[in-house]
Amino acid sequence: METIEIVIGIVVLIALAGVGALAGLVRPRRRRGSLPRPGEAAGRSSVGPRSDELPLPGVGDDAEEPRDSPLRTVDDVELPDELPATERPAPVAGRLVRLRERLARSNSALGHGLLALLSRDTLDESTWEEVEETLLLADVGVDPTTEIVDALRERVRVLGTREPEQLRAMLREELLRAVGTDVDRSLATTRHEGEDGRPGRPAVVMVVGVNGTGKTTTVGKLARVLVAEDKDVVLGAADTFRAAAAEQLATWGERVGVPTVRSERDGADPASVAYDAVKQGIEDEVDVVLVDTAGRLQNKVGLMDELGKVKRVVERHGPVDEVLLVLDATTGQNGLRQAAVFSEVVDITGIVLTKLDGTAKGGIVVGVQRSLHVPVKLVGLGEGPDDLAPFEPEAFVDALLS
Ligand code: GDP
Repeated sequence: METIEIVIGIVVLIALAGVGALAGLVRPRRRRGSLPRPGEAAGRSSVGPRSDELPLPGVGDDAEEPRDSPLRTVDDVELPDELPATERPAPVAGRLVRLRERLARSNSALGHGLLALLSRDTLDESTWEEVEETLLLADVGVDPTTEIVDALRERVRVLGTREPEQLRAMLREELLRAVGTDVDRSLATTRHEGEDGRPGRPAVVMVVGVNGTGKTTTVGKLARVLVAEDKDVVLGAADTFRAAAAEQLATWGERVGVPTVRSERDGADPASVAYDAVKQGIEDEVDVVLVDTAGRLQNKVGLMDELGKVKRVVERHGPVDEVLLVLDATTGQNGLRQAAVFSEVVDITGIVLTKLDGTAKGGIVVGVQRSLHVPVKLVGLGEGPDDLAPFEPEAFVDALLS
């Protein structure tokens, strides 16, 4: 009996020793970057001597091996000035209204110019010619200009009065008619639901345009628009010819916590980068994959080969949902010629007009839609990260006439 009691005692002692050793080994994991609380050395229980009896807490106290340099205190540890944190982009609704003063140059040339002309005492032939000239100079385009002038002449004649408020309302209606209010300007950025048990897939948006128009910046800003709408996004840096483009895009993505698929080397095959980006988007089950593309326009054949190939290769995963053409509003007729080349190469589904903040040619909104038969869906109104707005005809025309 005695022997059994001794054996049990030994077993209990061994078990208790084991638990103690484990308690020493298994310490709670500290989240990255969290500092020990005052009075608590890293990894140790704060239960023990009173806090006023404790030495200053040491950073790195939990290191097992003896240190030959003195431990630093919390006061000695330098924290970085700015902790990297993802930004919350500005809300998307009403952006054009908030940014309307950015259209100031367009305002005075187009809206104010027309209002001043229509308010003259006499509306003779030469005044109507000036109205026409104002519209043409603002890049409204020949056909829309003729239509607007004809409509205004007729309405002024029928109206018989030239009350400023009535003139303004009439001009607003005619400009709105020219811009178009019954067009679908929504972006196809909704994830596709899977059918017949097949998994869904992200919406794919390709962004094309000549280098320098603001294409990469637009992809970055658009990623922010989508993040603001709580969408998961993957970026594809398929502009592999401009060395800085992938870096630039990755930086835009990092700021809002969006990953960028890019090639390790410059000059890689843009189609394969685009393919990989969509592949990652499918694997990560994101809502949208945005693909930036190269915009070299030395010759049409080269461009056609390259963009055509990117689109074909991406479409092995499924159809591309949106092809956005980025156009620099300040380039006027030249921009329209570029646009025509792109629209021969790929089916453009929407236009992004950038740099509308720096031009008196706001009428290009009308001109470009008419020449390409594609709606303006977004406008760039500055270099700030959230200076990209969904295009709203009413807000735009009101800004011109404000
Ligand atoms: P990319 O070569 O077409 O990719 O052009 P980038 O995206 O590098 O942009 C070229 C320049 O245009 C940059 O300095 C941008 O900040 C500027 N930019 C882009 N969009 C706008 C805009 O809406 N307004 C203004 N003022 N500048 C813009």
